[in-house]
Amino acid sequence: MNNLPKIWLSSPHMGGEEQKFVDEAFASNWIAPLGPNVNGFEEDLKKYLGSTHEVACLSSGTAALHLALVQLGVGQNDEVICQSFTFCGSSNPILYLGAHPIFVDSEETTWNICPIALEEAIKDRIKKKKKPKAIIAVHLYGMPYQVEAVHEVAQRYNIPVIEDAAEALGAHYKGKNCGTFGSLAALSFNGNKIITTSGGGAMVTPNKELKEETVFLATQARDQAPHYEHSQIGYNYRMSNIVAGIGRGQMLVLDKHVGLRRKMNQFYLELFKEVDGIKVLQEPSDDYFSNHWLSCILVNPEKTKEINREQIRLAFLEANIESRPLWKPMHLQPIFKNSPFYGGNVAEKLFENGLCLPSGSNLTDEDRHRIKQVIKDLFD
Ligand SMILES: *Cc1c(COP(=O)(O)O)cnc(C)c1O
Repeated sequence: MNNLPKIWLSSPHMGGEEQKFVDEAFASNWIAPLGPNVNGFEEDLKKYLGSTHEVACLSSGTAALHLALVQLGVGQNDEVICQSFTFCGSSNPILYLGAHPIFVDSEETTWNICPIALEEAIKDRIKKKKKPKAIIAVHLYGMPYQVEAVHEVAQRYNIPVIEDAAEALGAHYKGKNCGTFGSLAALSFNGNKIITTSGGGAMVTPNKELKEETVFLATQARDQAPHYEHSQIGYNYRMSNIVAGIGRGQMLVLDKHVGLRRKMNQFYLELFKEVDGIKVLQEPSDDYFSNHWLSCILVNPEKTKEINREQIRLAFLEANIESRPLWKPMHLQPIFKNSPFYGGNVAEKLFENGLCLPSGSNLTDEDRHRIKQVIKDLFD
C-alpha cells in the first residue's frame, strides 16, 4: 500500500457556513431537539422540494421509514413489500414492527424495484389472503426508480408507496423532485450522504396532518396535558437543533454538490469509454435526473479479459482508494433468509459484478489522476 492519503467513497463536504448556524445554537442556548435551526432546516427543505410538501426533521432516515410504517398502520404479522436491492435501513423497520418483508427484484435500467415483479408479488400475496400494507421503493444511488410504472401498479391495487429517497436528495424525475412521489418519503443526512448533518433524516409528506403526527410520534407522543400523558407509543426520534444547524449550512451548497457528483459521473464515463465490458450506471432517458450520489460500474468479466469486480476493488485498495461492492440484496442476507422473494436474478447479478467508486463532491484533480492510473494499469 502507498503512503498517499486515502480517497474515500463519499466523505462529508462542508460548505463553510455550517459552523455559523451551530454557533448560533450555542449562543442562544437552543441545545435541544427543537429550536430555530430545526424549523429553518425544515423550511429550507420544503422550499427546495417545491413547497408542495411538508417536512419533519428526525434523528435518521431509518427513523423516518419506521414512523412512515407506523403511520400507515403496519403492525404485527402484516406484510410490506420492499425493494430487495437496497441498504438494510429500508427494510429493518418492517421487522421493528413485527411485520414481514416481501422482497422484490430490480429491473436493469435504473437497478430499482421492477414494476413487473412488483405486480406479480402483489397478486400472489393477495391470493394468499395477505394484501401488502405498503410498498417501499428506493431511488438507489440517487437514480430515480421507474416512477410512473411503479406508482401505476401501486394505485391499481390501492397500496400506499413509501419512497426511500435517503440517497436521492437533488434527484428528479420528469422535473419533479425525488421525495415527492410517495404518501410518505424518507431522506437521510448520514455522514456519507449527498448532504450530511453528521447523522439525521427527514420525513416528507404532502399531508400536513401526517407531518404533525410524525413530530408527535417522534417526541414520545405526549397528549395535551400539564403532566406527561401517553395514549400511544411514541419514539425519541426528533432531530436536535445543533445538527439542524449543519443541515442549514449544507442546504446552501446542495445544488453545487449535486453538480460536482454529476461531474464525477462524467469523469467515469470518459474513463471507461474505451474499456470493453464495463458499464457506468446512467440515466435511461432524459426523464431521469440522478444526483449520482455514488457512481457505480457493472463488470462483465467475459468481456474484460477475465478481470472481475473483486480484482478492480483490490487494485483500488492497493492504491489506498476506497471502493465497495454494490448493496447485497436483502433476500440474500442472513437476517431475511426466511422472507419471500419475487423476481429473477437481476439484483443478485448486480451484487456479484457491481462496484461503487469514489464519488464525493470534494474529490480533487489529483484524486481523479490516481483513480485513472489504477484503471490504466489494470486494463492496459
Ligand atoms: C442511508 C440509507 C437509509 C437510512 O438512513 P440513516 O439516516 O442512515 O438511518 C435508508 N435507506 C437507504 C437506501 C439509505 O442509503
